[in-house]
Amino acid sequence: MGEKLKKSEGKIENCVVIGSGPSGSTAALYLARAKMNPLMIAGFKEGARGGQLTTTTIVENFPGFPQGIDGTELAENMIAQAENFGTRVINKDVVDLSIGDESFIVYVGKKRDEIHTKSVIVCSGAIANRLYVPGTHDEEFWQKGVSTCAICDGSLPMFRDKPVAIIGGGDSAMEEAIYMSRYSSEVYIINRSNRFRASSIMLERAKKNKKIKIFENLVLEEVKGNKTVERIILKKTINNTKEEMNVGGVFFAIGHTPSTKFLEGKIELLHNKCIKTTETITKTSVPGLFCAGDVVDAVYRQAIKAAGDGCAAAIDAIRYIESLD
Ligand code: NDP
Repeated sequence: MGEKLKKSEGKIENCVVIGSGPSGSTAALYLARAKMNPLMIAGFKEGARGGQLTTTTIVENFPGFPQGIDGTELAENMIAQAENFGTRVINKDVVDLSIGDESFIVYVGKKRDEIHTKSVIVCSGAIANRLYVPGTHDEEFWQKGVSTCAICDGSLPMFRDKPVAIIGGGDSAMEEAIYMSRYSSEVYIINRSNRFRASSIMLERAKKNKKIKIFENLVLEEVKGNKTVERIILKKTINNTKEEMNVGGVFFAIGHTPSTKFLEGKIELLHNKCIKTTETITKTSVPGLFCAGDVVDAVYRQAIKAAGDGCAAAIDAIRYIESLD
């Protein structure tokens, strides 16, 4: 799978899709079916192939899979579907982008191989922020009770009827806590200060939920357990005293970082580093440069929404490419 990359030898692509999560794969599928012969840069390290779906276990909220589907399998199925219609895939990271006159150069991998193209769809996604305290690392309790997505993982049996902790004080923390209150015996929201970023309506909703308890001025120090998470150690920021809580799960809701570093100073980004769109949901400040998925959307961040955005970006890109000819 994937194509060996050489220096561009005068070849100009119609469209390069950056990223291979639901938005990238759907964009590539639509481009390929429209005979645009797309090239997808699927990611390797920074933007892992398949995107955030590959960091979750069972996906139960993507329509079409009544029993749910493994996140990595879903992501790989989407890539395979795009490939079946002719998408070429390169398993490397995009490290830079040059914007020219009705043309772009996409720089790929450590050697900065150049790909020249008429248009680009940025689907580089976002990475959920994690805390790296003892017990949370990949080889420890990550995905064994520690997660960044309650809506993806929260209904798994390991969290059923047990108390869980949600780290954060924004709307995501409130939403995830309310969601987890359906499955867990109690939900503890752990905020590092006594100020909440959450909107008052979301905060009130969480406060009214009998299963949710909100703790202020507490930071996570350590996650402990046996095969899965059993308890957490917290520190009170006002007096440095430690406390322990028995929980079966820990969810980080401490924001996401859009993967837009390679675009800084080149196109308009919002204060939260998401791409700023104009005119349609996929057009950027640069003609021919489109975007879709979590790289543009800090609010919904769902695979099904990203797939829909990818479809829209491909339609916009196809119209743009045809307007050049
Ligand atoms: P936010 O940036 O709004 O909140 C992040 C939270 O995480 C803050 O409480 C922050 O604390 C905390 N935090 C950040 N870093 C750390 C850390 N290292 N340790 C402990 N806590 C930390 O992100 P959200 O994901 O909550 O929301 C993003 C956007 O999505 C917002 O615009 C939000 O309104 C929107 N949204 C809307 C929803 C809805 O309306 N239903 C649902 C979900 C999201 P501190 O304040 O101290 O920095």
